[in-house]
Order: sequence, then structure tokens, then C-alpha cells
Amino acid sequence: MTMTPERWVFLGEYAKEVFGTEDEQLGTLMDRAVATGLPEIAVSADVGRLLKILVSLTPGRLALELGTLAGYSGIWIARGLAPDGKLITIEYEDRHADFAESELARAGVGDKVEVVRGAALDVLPEIRDRLGPASLDFVFIDAVKSEYVEYFAAIKPMVAIGGLLVADNVYGTGQGWIDEGYGTDEFNRLVAGDPDFESTVTPMREGVLIARRVR
Ligand code: SAH
Ligand code: MG
Repeated sequence: MTMTPERWVFLGEYAKEVFGTEDEQLGTLMDRAVATGLPEIAVSADVGRLLKILVSLTPGRLALELGTLAGYSGIWIARGLAPDGKLITIEYEDRHADFAESELARAGVGDKVEVVRGAALDVLPEIRDRLGPASLDFVFIDAVKSEYVEYFAAIKPMVAIGGLLVADNVYGTGQGWIDEGYGTDEFNRLVAGDPDFESTVTPMREGVLIARRVR
């Protein structure tokens, strides 16, 4: 028995069917987002649940997301936070941020989530000054793929020991894949080789890197 392209596609759909259950709002959110002109590039529901589980394995006090889009992944992350936990999510496009804010409110997590508007590399210094070092229990990197190395440099001092750093699309995107010379190969190797983190990857959807700050 070998892995074939057909089997790979089937298993991705199988994972979504078995593990990707979602409530009515999440189940219709991306269709509504696409109808308003947002791109259909959110994580799948099985990955959303992975994010929620991972957040809930941390103290869940403070989380950071780069790339809000429609708020889909943000709702999953917010649902894994502690009761008094908070998510800061950064989004460059105002119309994405507007859509996300309304969905986050509708999901009942509007008071736990702050959408910061701007380019991640521009607003991260202000967020770092505000939160202080080693303050983040959870980070989800999902903005500009070519900037992941710079995001890591900016965010690393903010991750608490025991905190998790998760990155999406580490095998590639519709724009290109690792084996074609695209994607986040440099970032993947940087994190994997950093002795301050223990890292692995799950091939769910387009590749999800999971790293835990160990020192
Ligand atoms: N995390 C979302 C998907 C994010 S898609 C989910 O899975 O539900 C990537 C998002 O990053 C898009 O909304 C895009 O507008 C935004 N983006 C693009 N450039 C950015 C930048 N420099 N800083 C922050 N966000 C950016
Ligand atoms: Mg993504």
C-alpha cells in the first residue's frame, strides 16, 4: 500500500469529515466571507480544532495571531483560551478586519479578541512593548509566507517558556510548494534548528509547524 495523490486528497477530506465538525456559524463563515470578496484561504475545521486543542494545553492567558482574514482561525483560538484569556490578531486589510470583528462578536468572543490593523512587521514592535517579554502562551503565524523568518525574529522574545508557536502553510500554498522551491523552507529549518524550541510538523492541510519553547 503506497500513498498516492488520490489517497492524499481522500485522506484530507476524510480528516475534515471525521474531525472537522463545526458549529453553524463556523460552518458558514467562509462561504459568507467569500461572498463578500474575501479569499478562501482559511484553515480547515480539523486544523481549527488543532489550534483550539493546542491553546487549551497552555495556560491560555495571552495569544497572538498574524493574519486574521475573516476571523475563522481566530474564533477557534479564542475558544481554547482561559476564561480571562486574550487574543491579539493582526490584519493588514481593513475589509478583512471589519468582517472578522463582526464574526468574532457574533461568536461571543469579541471581548477576548483585539484586531490590530496594520502590517505585522510594522505593528509587532508596539505589541512587544505593550505585552513585554516572555508573555505569549500561543502564537499562530499565518500572514505573508515570505516574512515568516522576520516574524520569528520579532516574536521569539515574546514567547513564554512552555509556550507554543504554530505556523500555517509550512509545506506551501496554492502559490507554490516546498518541493518546487517555494514556501517557508528557511523558516522551517530555522525553527527546527533553534535549541530554544522543540519543533515538529503535521502534514494536515498545507503543513502546520508546531514548536514549543523549552528554554
Ligand atoms: N488565519 C486565517 C487566514 C489568514 S490569510 C485563517 O486561517 O482563518 C492571511 C491574511 O493575512 C489575509 O487576511 C491578509 O490580508 C493578511 N495579511 C497580508 N499581509 C499582511 C501583513 N503584512 N501583516 C498582517 N496581515 C497580513
Ligand atoms: Mg494559512
